[in-house]
Amino acid sequence: MNVIKYLLSDEELPAHWYNLAADLPEALPPTLHPGTREPITSEDLAPLFAQALIEQELSTERWIEIPEEVRRVLLQWRCTPLYRARRLEEALDTPAKIYYKWEGVSPSGSHKPNTAVPQAFYNQREGIRRIATETGAGQWGSSLAMACSVFGLECLVYMVKVSFNQKPYRRALMDAYGATCVASPSDTTQSGREILRNDPDCTGSLGIAISEAVEVAASNDDTRYCLGSVLNHVLLHQTVIGLECLKQLEMAGDYPDVIVGCTGGGSNYAGICFPFLGEKLRGGRDVRLLAVEPSACPTLTKGPLAYDYGDTAHLTPLVKMHTLGSGFVPAGFHSGGLRYHGMAPMVSHVINLGLSQALAINQLECFDAGIRFARAEGIIPAPEATHAVAAAIQEAERCKREDRRETILVNLCGHGHFDMQAYIDYQAGKLKDYAYPDEEIALALSGLPSV
Ligand SMILES: *Cc1c(COP(=O)(O)O)cnc(C)c1O
Repeated sequence: MNVIKYLLSDEELPAHWYNLAADLPEALPPTLHPGTREPITSEDLAPLFAQALIEQELSTERWIEIPEEVRRVLLQWRCTPLYRARRLEEALDTPAKIYYKWEGVSPSGSHKPNTAVPQAFYNQREGIRRIATETGAGQWGSSLAMACSVFGLECLVYMVKVSFNQKPYRRALMDAYGATCVASPSDTTQSGREILRNDPDCTGSLGIAISEAVEVAASNDDTRYCLGSVLNHVLLHQTVIGLECLKQLEMAGDYPDVIVGCTGGGSNYAGICFPFLGEKLRGGRDVRLLAVEPSACPTLTKGPLAYDYGDTAHLTPLVKMHTLGSGFVPAGFHSGGLRYHGMAPMVSHVINLGLSQALAINQLECFDAGIRFARAEGIIPAPEATHAVAAAIQEAERCKREDRRETILVNLCGHGHFDMQAYIDYQAGKLKDYAYPDEEIALALSGLPSV
């Protein structure tokens, strides 16, 4: 069977990012200052972020130009290929057409460099010397470390302790790019020391690691903070994915009926979906959007939409999002990633407006989908990406039952080469399904800040 792929030339790399804020039927609820609870201003954010990124964060302009310096770096691996999953379609015996956008061809193996590169660029242009950030399994840390090395910036990464100990290869990648990687919670920050005082064996969480990185940025003039997901400007940078897909599907003479993306903080989902949603909101074709999360961290499907902090020590602004509470610590035996307690405000808003559906899937079904995908298409998806693949398989099976020839577009946001321990555990039968208990959710609800 011939491989069908859609490739774009360098000239077709998008010249602008797409900002969904311009087309939303209802404006995004404002982000609030944690002290005054008034809408946040660009001055409030100045100690944390580069000015250009703050402008993008608050912008409602539809198209924002991608700087030439950024495009030159992105061109190393972009435009990324769009494949038709012919062998998977055949294995599933489905009438549906499945396409996957392959973001695993970037230097660090995921979509994250799409935003790491512009974030590092703007900080360097504004004279910043060092960037502080957090990372879970290490995908964001390694992507930002790569981008910082391109632009000559120092990079300090707080890595969730359980991953720091269990995932030496991502750590080694950060080392290779010249970054400094610290296990979080650490004794290098006030927030870290406070957590350790209460719980010396704390294995960490993204919320805690964010507190440490934000604290370092806020208390050092030459340092700014970068985040790999959730924020408006991060989602904006990821729209190159969907913008390329629009052109590639036009080459294929096709248009998606449904688009599937996994959601941790929401950036790869937004990156592939928002350009299509924008077309729809401007009077174009209808398309179903599907955000897929793990049952072990069911932010969109079980977390309330409420104002909450982005971090555990409550140093960040308050954002209106689906949340499991900023004290959320994921179960240790959940192997599929996507462990953040919150969700991008823009993604939460889109779901709230009924413009997208959300779905939670258990980890065994996800790893099974990852194996089926690998055996059909040859690519081993990142554990996160298996959530999108599992949902696409569900859709393809529905199409078979209903005898419908729908077009399914999946964001295959990264490869799983550094996550093979999770596949080993799955194949050895060591993983089990786990749904986050409702009592925990009720408890988190009661602890939300009153706004
Ligand atoms: C970080 C990451 C995710 C989760 O983040 P989003 O912002 O939801 O995209 C998903 N997949 C991969 C491969 C990642 O590296």
